[in-house]
Order: sequence, then C-alpha cells, then structure tokens
Amino acid sequence: MPLNDNPAITDLSPLGTAPLIDPFGRTVDYLRVSVTDRCDFRCVYCMAEEMTFLPKAELLSLEELEILCRRFMAAGVRKIRLTGGEPLVRRNIMQLIGNLGAETKTGGLDELTITTNGSQLSKMADDLFAAGVRRVNISLDTLDPYRFKAVTRWGDLNKVLDGLRAAQAAGLGVKINAVALRGVNDEELGDMLAWCGDEGFDMTIIEVMPMGDIGTENRLDQYLPLSKVRADLSKRFTLTDIPFRTGGPARYVKVEETGQKLGFITPLTHNFCESCNRVRVTCTGQLYMCLGQDDNSDLRRALRDGGEAGLDAAIVEAIGRKPKGHDFIIDRRHSDPAVSRHMNVTGG
Ligand code: SAM
Ligand code: SF4
Repeated sequence: MPLNDNPAITDLSPLGTAPLIDPFGRTVDYLRVSVTDRCDFRCVYCMAEEMTFLPKAELLSLEELEILCRRFMAAGVRKIRLTGGEPLVRRNIMQLIGNLGAETKTGGLDELTITTNGSQLSKMADDLFAAGVRRVNISLDTLDPYRFKAVTRWGDLNKVLDGLRAAQAAGLGVKINAVALRGVNDEELGDMLAWCGDEGFDMTIIEVMPMGDIGTENRLDQYLPLSKVRADLSKRFTLTDIPFRTGGPARYVKVEETGQKLGFITPLTHNFCESCNRVRVTCTGQLYMCLGQDDNSDLRRALRDGGEAGLDAAIVEAIGRKPKGHDFIIDRRHSDPAVSRHMNVTGG
C-alpha cells in the first residue's frame, strides 16, 4: 500500500514527531531485537540438533543494531528486549547493552531487558546491572538435571542455576519462562511454581509454538494446552485472575499461596492480538510486524541503501502493514510449522 493511502499514518515527517500507530490503532512502543541466531543450547522445541546458522556477513553489526534501535526510539519505542538465539553469546554484546542501557538512565528508554538461557549470567550479571538492565527473563523448563539435558541437549543445569544466583546477587529482577512440554515437564510445573514462590521469581508458562523445522521432534507430541496446565495447577494453588497486562500474549494470575505473578502465554489462541504493542527485528534486520506471520520488511537494505532516512521511511511503511492477528494453527492436520523461521531467528 502506498504510504499516504494508509489512514493510520498522518505524519510522514522524520520520526520523533509521530508515534508508530498501526492501521488498527495500536501504538507500537516495544521492540524485540534478536541479536544473534546462534546459541550454546539446542532446545528440542526451538532448534534441530544440526543447525546451519547464518553466515556472519549477513548479520547486522553491533553498530547497525544500535542505529536501528535508536531510530525506533526516535519513533516512540520505550522498551527494548534483546533476545536471540542466545543474546549473551554474541561477541562484544556488552557494547550494545551499555549504549542502550545508558538511555534508561537519561530517560530515552523506560526499560532494556534481556531474554536469556542463563548460561552466561554467572560472569555477566554484574555488568548487565551496571549497564542499566534491571530485569532478565531466564528460560528454564525443568529443575531436573537429566531432564534439563534432554530438553536443551547441550545445556548444563548447574551453570544456569549459578547464573540465576549471580543475577539475584547483582540485583536483577528475574522472571522464569518455562515452555509446557507434554510428557516432559507437565508433572513438574507445580513444583517449579512453588520454587519460584520461594525464590521470589515471577513465572511465565509458554505454550509451544509451531515455528521452524525442528528435525525429528513432532510438535503434536510436545503440545500441551495451557488450559490443562492451569487446571492441574489449580488443584494445588489458588490462582486469581489479575488485570496486569504488558501488551503481549500473556494473561496473568496471582498465586495466592506465594504472592507471585504467574503468566500464561497462549499464542495459539487469539486472545492477545488486539492489544499487541510490539514488533520484532531479526539479527539480519528483517522487521516482523507479527510473530505469527511471514510478512516482513528488510530494514538492513533500507539502512545500507538509504541511511537513517531510508530506515525511518521503511519503519513507518512496515508499521502500516502490521496485520490484525496471526495464523498459528496446531492440530492433527497442521503439525507442520505455521511459519518457516525458527524462534531463534525472530527471538521469543
Ligand atoms: N536463548 C534465549 C532463551 O532461551 O531465553 C532467548 C531466545 S529463546 C528463542 C526465547 C524464548 O522462546 C525462550 O523462553 C524459549 O523457551 C522460547 N521458545 C523457543 N522456541 C519456542 C517454541 N517453538 N514455542 C514456544 N516457545 C519457544
Ligand atoms: Fe537457544 Fe533459547 Fe532456542 Fe533454547 S530456546 S535453543 S536457549 S535460543
């Protein structure tokens, strides 16, 4: 659609004067950036064991990533989450984190957060805090070392738990993200919730999403509806719905016994699209306006060909194409990935 045919875009002047508002009236103020597709784990629901990663030349440099983040900030983005792949394994990532983190100290950003598998936190937690990061999401699907190995293939639970302790000691708020996996951690999620209560961590349980070819694993074997998880947890805990929202796909309850928040992310239902406030950029600079759709915009080309002005125009144009909702379906007839890219490309 030509830019000026889009009723939502009333001001095509340089970014900084108009917030990013999509055709459905949603303000986009939250950016998730995948800084690498590489990872030191091979979680069974996320990657095949033999992964071919992108050639390094295709990745945005750290400088380009920063320019991109800054142009989004100029357009009203207030919160940035760095993800991956494993964001903390990208070489010199503290350079980007330090520069963006400085914006949280001067009011340029409300928050800079990281989603991590925790493997590098024991050595990086203090630096993250000093840089301005105040919260991290740590992905942890089980507290059983053997099961952890089976799920992550290459991960070491003790290393992650050390990282978790380091994050706590550094003063970082910790939220635990666990993917609900049928026959793997369904029996354990109650114990994990109790453990999060003891440790003072909020927890989010994520429904497995049909993203990317994962080799020999079958989505339907992994799929565990969160309605079932919630029903099971309700036998042990009192879960009270609360209106807390982040503009994302989570719905929250308070766990009365522990006082902690528990989020349920059910992307396969449509319960979150109407309030979606976010877009995602891959490590190669593709902007995805919806996690569950393939439509995207090549911001790397826009930046390399047109500089910051080209980037600004491409961002505005892409937000004008943000779709109303996603197309995830998982059932007996649709066990293939709904979108072909892996989660480590777009980031969680
Ligand atoms: N490596 C980091 C980590 O694991 O936290 C950041 C990237 S990872 C892709 C982000 C989140 O996506 C993790 O919480 C992970 O469990 C989740 N994830 C990956 N593949 C998924 C899938 N197919 N369905 C649901 N969640 C998935
Ligand atoms: Fe790596 Fe995170 Fe994917 Fe696991 S979920 S393989 S830690 S990117």
